[in-house]
Amino acid sequence: MRILIVEDEPKTGDYLKQGLVEAGFVVDLVRDGHGGLHQALTEGFDLVVLDVMLPGIDGWAVLRGIRKAGKETPVLFLTARDDVDDRVKGLELGADDYLVKPFAFSELLARVRTLLRRGPRTAEAEFLHTGDLELDLMRRRATRAGRRIELTSKEFALLELLLSRQGEVLPRSLIASQVWDMNFDSDTNVIEVAMRRLRVKLDDNFEPKLIRTVRGMGYVLENPDCS
Ligand code: CA
Repeated sequence: MRILIVEDEPKTGDYLKQGLVEAGFVVDLVRDGHGGLHQALTEGFDLVVLDVMLPGIDGWAVLRGIRKAGKETPVLFLTARDDVDDRVKGLELGADDYLVKPFAFSELLARVRTLLRRGPRTAEAEFLHTGDLELDLMRRRATRAGRRIELTSKEFALLELLLSRQGEVLPRSLIASQVWDMNFDSDTNVIEVAMRRLRVKLDDNFEPKLIRTVRGMGYVLENPDCS
């Protein structure tokens, strides 16, 4: 698997490259936006790790260029700001995931592996489903057994995360950072409350039950076709 890293900070770039090489990937490191875009368009990569603040053209322009060329290579962007607008912008421009600096390398590696497993973006990626549950990502609509389920935007984001990683136990810390943009704080029960509401809407009137709590670990959305 080939990965392109576009990162101008020498330390971060070298550290990422070394870590990914040790994890068994073939890695190219480019330190500016123009070079990054050129490389992404002319060579075949399975994934791009893209810093946002870059000399030359920024990460957004690189991302736009990649998608404009019709390339569906998964893109994981790195942002220095824990800013919802940044995150939304990246995802709207066609990025697949993001990490806020500073992050642990293990977290980056986990995201990279998930994106590679998922493969290139396809038209079907506009819908996520499991069993009789379907999430329409463009229209922001959820249905189960053909019945519309009204969700708040947080519940939708939560369900989108669970569905995109169905079968995986998602720790509360990951849910907190992905859906609430916050670091996990054990004093807050915001995740439990949202999860309880989501389960009422999703599972109360339907079988089989899809969301399961894994005690001490987190939550998993079961794939009924696999059980
Ligand atoms: Ca930078």
